[in-house]
Amino acid sequence: MSRPAPGLQTARSAFPRRRIPVSHPLFLGNEKKYVNECLDSTWISSVGGFITRFEETFAAFCGSRHAVACNNGTSALHLALLAAGVESGDEVIVPTLTYVATANAVRYCNAVPVFVDSEPLTMNLDPAALEEKITPRTKAIVAVHLYGHPADMDPILEIARRHHLVVIEDAAEAHGATYRGRITGTLGDLATFSFFGNKIVTTGEGGVVTTDNAGMERHIRLLRGQGMDPARRYWFPIAGYNYRMTNIQAAIGLAQMENIEIHLGRRRAVADWYRKYLNGLEDFLQLPAELPWARHAFWMFAIVLHDSWGMDRDEFMRRLDEAGIETRPVFYPMHVMPVYREETGAYPVAERLGRRGVNLPSHGLMTEEDVQYVARQIREITASGA
Ligand SMILES: *Cc1c(COP(=O)(O)O)cnc(C)c1O
Repeated sequence: MSRPAPGLQTARSAFPRRRIPVSHPLFLGNEKKYVNECLDSTWISSVGGFITRFEETFAAFCGSRHAVACNNGTSALHLALLAAGVESGDEVIVPTLTYVATANAVRYCNAVPVFVDSEPLTMNLDPAALEEKITPRTKAIVAVHLYGHPADMDPILEIARRHHLVVIEDAAEAHGATYRGRITGTLGDLATFSFFGNKIVTTGEGGVVTTDNAGMERHIRLLRGQGMDPARRYWFPIAGYNYRMTNIQAAIGLAQMENIEIHLGRRRAVADWYRKYLNGLEDFLQLPAELPWARHAFWMFAIVLHDSWGMDRDEFMRRLDEAGIETRPVFYPMHVMPVYREETGAYPVAERLGRRGVNLPSHGLMTEEDVQYVARQIREITASGA
C-alpha cells in the first residue's frame, strides 16, 4: 500500500553534482524550533519536557504501553537484555547476519550470542533453523528486522513460548514496519530502536526501548539513570548506567516523529521507483522482497547479485562509485568477525548474502530522477558483462 509522498513529483535531482549518498537525514518540520526551545530554556541535558513528549509520542506510534528513551540503539539493546534477565553465562540467540551491535550488547551482559542462519528472501533470522540452537542455558531470542523487513515473528514467538524464552525485537532499522498488520515494537516482550543519523528517523544519536511490561519498564528506567532510586535521591540500590537521552536529542526526535508518515512514504516511493526502473534484471540480481504479510520500512534497499552472474560484488560497487553513487556492502555475518569467529560454511545463506549483497542509496531526499540514474548505471553494468 502506497502512502502519499509530498514534494516528490519534481524531475530534478536532489544531487545535481551527481554524488548520491547512500543515506541522508531529512529535517522537514520543527527540528530547529524545538532545539532552540531547549537552548532558550537552558534545558539541554537529560531533564526536560521533550524527553517525556518524545517517549509518549513514540509509544503511541507503536501502540506500545511504554517507551523509554536512551542514548543510542546499542544501549537500548543492552537495557532490554538486562530487563529480560540475561546474566553472565546465559545464551542469547541472534541472527548471524546483523549489525554488530546486536551481538555486542549480548557480550556486555557477559552472555554468549548463539548465531542462526538467515532466510534468503527477507535476510532475517530463519525460524526453521532456530529451535536446534536452543539449550538449557538459552535465555532470550533477539529477532532483527533487517533493513526494514519484519522478521517472521509468529513461528519465533511460538518456539519461544514453548521454551519459556524472552523475545526482543531489534527494530533499529524498522520504525513503522508491520507484521501481519501488527507494528514492530509490539511483537515481542521488548523491542529496541535506533535513532542514529542514518536511520529512518533520527535524534543524531539515540535509542528507545518499548514494552507493555510495567515491571520491565521500571527496571529499564532504573538502569538508565545509574540505578538511582526514584523515591530517594542519590540512593543507588543497584549499579546502573548513564544511558540517558538529552532533551536536545528528544526535541529533534519529537519533530521527526511528527512527520514519520512522510519519512516512511518517501522511502516507499524510492523503493517503488527502484522496482520500476530495475524491472527485467531478474537474471542478474535479486530485489528486496516484501512478503505478503509484511509492510517493509525500506531503511535500505538491499539487492543481491546472483552467483550465476559472474560480476564481482566489490567491482560492481566500484563502478557505481565511479558514476557518483555511494553504496554499502550488506553486513558481514557475525560469525566471520574476529571476536565471534566460528567455522565458515555453517551459515551458508548469511554468508552468500554478506558476500553478494549491496545496499543502494535509499532515503527521503532522493527524487525519481536520482533513482532512475542509479538504475540506468546498474543496467549499463549488466549490459557490459562481468
Ligand atoms: C543501528 C543499529 C543498531 C544500533 O544502533 P546505534 O544507535 O548505532 O547504537 C542495532 N542494531 C541494528 C540492526 C542496527 O542497524
